[in-house]
Amino acid sequence: MNQVEKSIFSQIIDRELPAQIVYEDENTIAFLDINPLTPGHTLVVPKKPFVNVFDGDEEILGEMMQVGSKIAKAQKKAGLAEGVNLIMSNETVAGQEVSHAHLHVIPRFTNDGVNFHNPSTPYQAGEAEEVCKQLTDAVK
Ligand code: 5GP
Repeated sequence: MNQVEKSIFSQIIDRELPAQIVYEDENTIAFLDINPLTPGHTLVVPKKPFVNVFDGDEEILGEMMQVGSKIAKAQKKAGLAEGVNLIMSNETVAGQEVSHAHLHVIPRFTNDGVNFHNPSTPYQAGEAEEVCKQLTDAVK
């Protein structure tokens, strides 16, 4: 039988790799990112492994956001954040490096040097309507 390689995050969940664990419940764990964008940058990870939003159970994905909200409030309460970014990268093309789903909770301060701003790509005439139709058809 093919043995699927255990992810880094599953090894953290099973205490086979060290991590600074800030929160844990039945279905999720949250620990400090080893390469933080800002101090307190936390990853919220489902204990049952799945890759990302495309194969994840919607209930667990919802729980990840609930825990993300808990962590965000804790970061603010602890004086580690004025605001936060909640970010999940899905697939390599979107910047996902670890193939075990995770939600980034990134503390933000004024002038913290983090920048997610990119130039936008305006729609051509009629394009927004066409794209909206493609999506409304697909979401049914
Ligand atoms: P992605 O680029 O997939 O959205 O984010 C993966 C994140 O996992 C990165 O921010 C990276 O720093 C973090 N990471 C990778 N390996 C480890 C590790 O062994 N321990 C911890 N705590 N974080 C890790």
